[in-house]
Amino acid sequence: MKKFSIVAKKNEKSYRMEKYIQMRLSAEGWTYDKTYPNLVICVGGDGTLLYAVHKYMKQLSNVQFVGIHTGTLGFFTDYTEEEIDLCIQDILQKTPRIFCSYLLNIRINDQSYYALNEMRIENVKRTQVVDVYVDHEFFETCWGSGVCLSTQAGSTAYNRSLGGAVIDNGISLMQMAEITSIQHSKHRSLGNPYILKSDRLVEFKSNDFHDAVLCYDHKNIVLDEVKSITCTMSEKYVQFARYRSYSYLKRLKNLY
Ligand code: NAP
Repeated sequence: MKKFSIVAKKNEKSYRMEKYIQMRLSAEGWTYDKTYPNLVICVGGDGTLLYAVHKYMKQLSNVQFVGIHTGTLGFFTDYTEEEIDLCIQDILQKTPRIFCSYLLNIRINDQSYYALNEMRIENVKRTQVVDVYVDHEFFETCWGSGVCLSTQAGSTAYNRSLGGAVIDNGISLMQMAEITSIQHSKHRSLGNPYILKSDRLVEFKSNDFHDAVLCYDHKNIVLDEVKSITCTMSEKYVQFARYRSYSYLKRLKNLY
């Protein structure tokens, strides 16, 4: 493990930290390689780490990630900015434990997209009607602004704002939650977040996804001509390099 890259949030503080880490690791014989790194050091927040994961999506099996948070500690980040020297020392001296976080695979026609946190079908312009199928069996029709399907890692992100459950570390599953669902006498849907086994296949269908957007993590594509979106848990995963133990409960308490 001697090739590293740094992905930093676009602000002056993160940029300065990036230069410092680069200088310290290079002085110890590590090679700065933005194209084929073995270790990606993220400086910023959970959002920066998501960006880095997508940047190296095609080579995840060869890359480990470690994060330094420039605000409060996050879910994907193990060090604060005050601990930058400790982080560098750990990288240089310790062998990390690897924590794997599986991605959601989102398929549209023959194209695959991947998400660490979640996928959302969102329509802010008009009521979006979505038929939901689980393992090819019709489940329900959702009326509202859309639906969100999150992973365990994403349970503390958008899913939490929708009233979804926070899922403990290490449990592999999917969680579906509706986004501002319409519930009245002529139409009802489950309304509660639904936690699904990780080997389920979830399909979202509509005759009209016009104006709807598929958001997956921080990325998005328009769905205008799309009729069906299929989601499963992928075999792809993100490898987090854990140089020290930082409990999930502590991360959770930092959130609120
Ligand atoms: P972003 O600015 O990168 O992130 C939005 C906020 O979500 C930031 O505070 C970020 O933390 C936090 N976040 C990201 N992943 C998280 C996780 N797994 N657990 C807890 N917090 C997490 O926004 P973006 O680029 O639009 O979207 C990236 C992600 O942000 C999405 O996947 C979505 O889950 C989340 N998001 C949430 C909401 C919401 O809750 N209403 C709205 C938009 C986006 P940091 O400050 O540490 O980066």
